[in-house]
Amino acid sequence: MKITRHGCDVLIVGGGAAGLKAAVTLLEGNLKIRLALVVKGKLGRCGTTANAVSDRMAFHATMPYTPPGGRDNWMMHARDIFEIGRRVSDRPQAGILAKKSREVTEYLCSIGVPFARDGEGRVSQFLTDGSLYPRACFTGPYTSWDIEKCLKKRLEGFDFDLYEEMMLADILTVSGRKVSGAVCVDRGGNLHLFETPFVVIATGGAGGIYLDNCYPSGMTGDGYGAALMCGAELVNMEFIQFGICSRRLKVACSGSLMRSVPRILDRDGREVLRGIYENPSDIFRVVFRKGASWPVSNEEESRILDIISHREGGLFLDYTSNPSGWNRSNIPGDMMKWYSEKGLKPDDERPWERLKLINPQIYHHFYKGGIDLSREMVDAFSAAQHFQGGIKIDPWGESSVRGLFACGESAGGQHGANRPGGNALLDTQVFGGRVASRIASRLKRRTGIPAPVDGRGIGEAYSGSFSREELKSILDDVKKSMSLNVSVYREEKSLARLEAEMKARLERIRPSSDLRLYLEVRNSILTSLAVIKGCLGRDESRGPHLMWAGEVLIPSKKRFDNIYLIHRMENGRIVTSVRRIQE
Ligand SMILES: Cc1cc2nc3c(=O)[nH]c(=O)nc-3n(C[C@H](O)[C@H](O)[C@H](O)COP(=O)(O)OP(=O)(O)OC[C@H]3O[C@@H](n4cnc5c(N)ncnc54)[C@H](O)[C@@H]3O)c2cc1C
Repeated sequence: MKITRHGCDVLIVGGGAAGLKAAVTLLEGNLKIRLALVVKGKLGRCGTTANAVSDRMAFHATMPYTPPGGRDNWMMHARDIFEIGRRVSDRPQAGILAKKSREVTEYLCSIGVPFARDGEGRVSQFLTDGSLYPRACFTGPYTSWDIEKCLKKRLEGFDFDLYEEMMLADILTVSGRKVSGAVCVDRGGNLHLFETPFVVIATGGAGGIYLDNCYPSGMTGDGYGAALMCGAELVNMEFIQFGICSRRLKVACSGSLMRSVPRILDRDGREVLRGIYENPSDIFRVVFRKGASWPVSNEEESRILDIISHREGGLFLDYTSNPSGWNRSNIPGDMMKWYSEKGLKPDDERPWERLKLINPQIYHHFYKGGIDLSREMVDAFSAAQHFQGGIKIDPWGESSVRGLFACGESAGGQHGANRPGGNALLDTQVFGGRVASRIASRLKRRTGIPAPVDGRGIGEAYSGSFSREELKSILDDVKKSMSLNVSVYREEKSLARLEAEMKARLERIRPSSDLRLYLEVRNSILTSLAVIKGCLGRDESRGPHLMWAGEVLIPSKKRFDNIYLIHRMENGRIVTSVRRIQE
């Protein structure tokens, strides 16, 4: 098999918000480095940052004027991250995220991200899931697209090598201890060997291991798979956010899409909460609350909607008419106050009219996407939206393998079981910048110059003729079984069965003439196994990890406080261990 060799000082894999931030920071450092950026698709068009949409995409930050104010304001932010994380996040990393949030927001403003401003010209902030104070900055439903666009533009004019439609296959190491390079595959299936002492994995999350997900295509956990294969550790893989999304448009139906309180129906047209709550005001309260507690969480009453959605195989959100019992006397006081502050008269309006008034941009997004909410219902489902865990990093984004860094959604430990809305995008900027700073300081000292990689045997390792059709069918089975058994619902019995099935699949597959497909299947299985093993190791419910015993939800257990489940490969198998989090 043909192998092309490349030499570089740093290889960044992934062109989302995290990879771009790492690249920009390194190049702005003026170090005259040889930087290679490898992206699976076209830069600026692939990955979650360039494609995700929610009612109002949030970027979480503590600015000098963010309440409650004061010099140590960021500490409240750090406290929120740790508290909502339910004691399974790294306290120092929570502090770093919070403390650096102002700096990275100001940087984004300086490169032209058009954050909404208040009357005094300051970046506007609203209250989002899991925070005590309004810290969410936004440009609208497309905040992340704006961030992607501006960072990509900032790269223009810098000297670096961009490899588009190139997929990371594996990381090469010296005895599993330090990085010596990476193997990638181009669109034509040809191998590329990058010799480099530093690899940054910024490959995002792994929504593609689920049939039901709101990620763009191609997100098959390649960074997690490659990290495991080279001996790095993964953490918190059981904590994956699931939320109610539009099936057709993959929009997260959070914020105003819930606060406008649509009728929520099952496939037979019944209002799903009516049999559960007697009092209509309880139904309105739960749906309204879903707007600020969107991904499923054991700590939130609104999880009931996710549970029903998963059980029913989806829900319909009907904005054309009000839910039963909708009148002033049944609408809770705090909701009425919120509506009147927005200038609404909920008595006189239907949900689509409320939505259009509160958030015209998302109303028009649906309209442009072919869904007229004044006439048509949203076909919604419970979809994977964000991986809270990932490659275990230290405060500078380095993994357990020297020279291997991770940032953004591919990294883990900086978020806990839940995260404040907007902290994922924040994470991409803070840790994207930090990995770059750490690599730059090593490059200045010129430590870690690699010995040339012996490329013998690499071609053979990726050669094979395993059936393409069988690989596709295995991938379909992985996705279906993950959605059915390891999404909103987790039960020990089915998890144990699934673990055995995944192991058998991993042993069965071999490289095929479609090398990229083989790698995607391998990485999907490895990632799924880490998720399943994380779930099996945590016999409790915490954050989005809802563990069931029959019809009963197993409660949160104190003995799992401050406990990480760590996964690494040993002799071709994933081994899971328990580690106490250092406070
Ligand atoms: C619908 C939706 C709504 C969201 N809303 C919010 C929100 O309001 N606030 C918030 O903070 N977060 C939100 N998130 C999460 C947030 O958008 C992501 O966590 C974040 O954008 C991830 O950025 P990233 O750079 O880590 O990864 P991505 O943007 O996913 O980039 C990954 C990059 O790696 C590339 N890649 C993948 N595999 C390979 C490979 N093998 N080889 C080479 N390249 C590869 C991809 O092509 C892409 O370029 C939302 C997510 C979704 C899906």
